[in-house]
Amino acid sequence: MEHKDIEQSVAPEEVVSVNFIEAEINKDNKNGRYGGRVLTRFPPEPNGYLHIGHAKSICLNFGLGKEYNGLTNLRFDDTNPTKEDVEYVNSIMDDVKWLGFDWNGDVRYASDYFGQMYEYAKKLITLGKAYVDDQTADEIRQTRGDFSTPGTNSPYRDRSVKENLALFEDMKNGKFKDGEKVLRAKIDMADPNIVMRDPVLYRIVNADHHRTGGEWKIYPMYDFAHPIEDAIERVTHSICTLEFEVHRPLYEWVLEDWDDTEIPRQIEFARLNVTKMVMSKRKLRALVEEGLVSGWDDPRMPTISGLRRRGYTPAAIRDFCDRIGVAKADSMVDIALLEFCIREDLKLKAMRPMVVLDPVKVVITNYPEGQTELVTIENNPENEELGTREVVFGREVYIERNDFMEEPVKKFFRLAPGKEVRLKGAYFVTCTDIVKDGDGNITEIHCTYDPETKSGSGCTRKVKGTLHWVEASSAVDIETRLYDYLLREDADDKDFLASFNHESLQVLHSKGEASLATTVPGDHFQFLRQGYFVTDKDSTSDHIVVNRIVGLRDSWAKQQKK
Ligand code: ATP
Ligand code: MG
Repeated sequence: MEHKDIEQSVAPEEVVSVNFIEAEINKDNKNGRYGGRVLTRFPPEPNGYLHIGHAKSICLNFGLGKEYNGLTNLRFDDTNPTKEDVEYVNSIMDDVKWLGFDWNGDVRYASDYFGQMYEYAKKLITLGKAYVDDQTADEIRQTRGDFSTPGTNSPYRDRSVKENLALFEDMKNGKFKDGEKVLRAKIDMADPNIVMRDPVLYRIVNADHHRTGGEWKIYPMYDFAHPIEDAIERVTHSICTLEFEVHRPLYEWVLEDWDDTEIPRQIEFARLNVTKMVMSKRKLRALVEEGLVSGWDDPRMPTISGLRRRGYTPAAIRDFCDRIGVAKADSMVDIALLEFCIREDLKLKAMRPMVVLDPVKVVITNYPEGQTELVTIENNPENEELGTREVVFGREVYIERNDFMEEPVKKFFRLAPGKEVRLKGAYFVTCTDIVKDGDGNITEIHCTYDPETKSGSGCTRKVKGTLHWVEASSAVDIETRLYDYLLREDADDKDFLASFNHESLQVLHSKGEASLATTVPGDHFQFLRQGYFVTDKDSTSDHIVVNRIVGLRDSWAKQQKK
């Protein structure tokens, strides 16, 4: 009763916790700033595949769009012609859709607005707010000053509007070489914020663009292009990562003369960092180009396509992004949380077949030769709705090599000479003999079984160990790929290629129960006692290939309980 009183005493709007971005949007809505309109955007640069950090941004932007009955644009920030490619454009669209989001209308491209940006730059020149500078990139850097010293004005800063307009047009028409001239904002070379010391707005790049071809010889800088892209699309809340906080005054400066009553506003949040994961397209590209991984979708990669191939589900990734929330200060999230999320998603959904990853043969010497039988096993002991299946049992079965010890250590409750264990869903077996090859490796384990101990027959005798197994004559061969983290334990941020973990992929020749013969890429499983697995895209009916997503051990959940 007391509990009920407490619930009633709290108004609903106080119970719902909002993150700081939602709080800002709520404030804007209350003040009628955008007439209650919410339009966010996700603006990737198509210079690589998206990673889990981008997934955070996607979930945040599309999530806010949904939450406020608004919309979210997908816009390619393609202002850097030399690094961009349509391969990336396509992979990014696939990733966003796969995560379960729909963008507003057609995909947009910053390059579609090059004409409007050019016109707006001319407007700034006319207003005396931009000028053409002949200084080299080095000279511009050297005259910018630093935190303690103001910058110095360019000798070209006071060119006339007429001259600036003419030179800017010449820049556009390809009259100059790369780096010969730039267009700069005329703000204040003594501004305490270095970003505001006459930043470059346009540079000359004589390279073909993947969409506009050779049409443009000048390309806008991010700080100039981005606010204009947002303004053209009438974005309300332009959400970006923390490193852009110092650029916010420039974002606002650029739009001072934009002709609209509703100017977008920039809000920053902390970028996602995850332990054991490399979170930079540049570094990820290096791994691909160096051939250290099989491609952008290598299951070890923290890319969305890599995580997908590894067996992560969209629901698990969305859940992860939800749980970490949005923060204003940079932090490091434990990869164990991501692993927890996929276990949570698959725990009740996935079938739990038996697969012996590293098999050794067991011969049950007192089981009739040439005979097999069917035993009934639950598909998922935690979810009865998934029903049961019949599994073949017979005289020869495989068990895990590490489920047997010739000289068992203390507390080893699995199979050992003279010891009895339960074969899951079948019988108790006792080890009577071992067969070895010339090198001393165990090739066969001989056992006897007790017919009275059949699972479900009401036998009351107890054994400590239960092993999974696969009957030999009906087993299917499976190539199992086990993964470790991409970077070694002692990874060094400065030389991250040298920190690559060369032991991060292990291939095993496994034996699976017959039900796995029909698996297709993308099927998810929990292999009994072994972890969560997915059928890889390399898998065919003749050659089954599976990836281990994660093991069973849930260090995250345990940590939380402490
Ligand atoms: P990278 O450094 O990996 O190339 P980026 O920020 O340059 O990343 P963009 O394609 O420019 O990549 O980013 C698209 C959007 O994704 C931006 O709004 C950016 O702020 C966001 N984003 C990128 N990385 C992260 C991250 N680690 N956490 C949250 N958001 C991110
Ligand atoms: Mg970038």
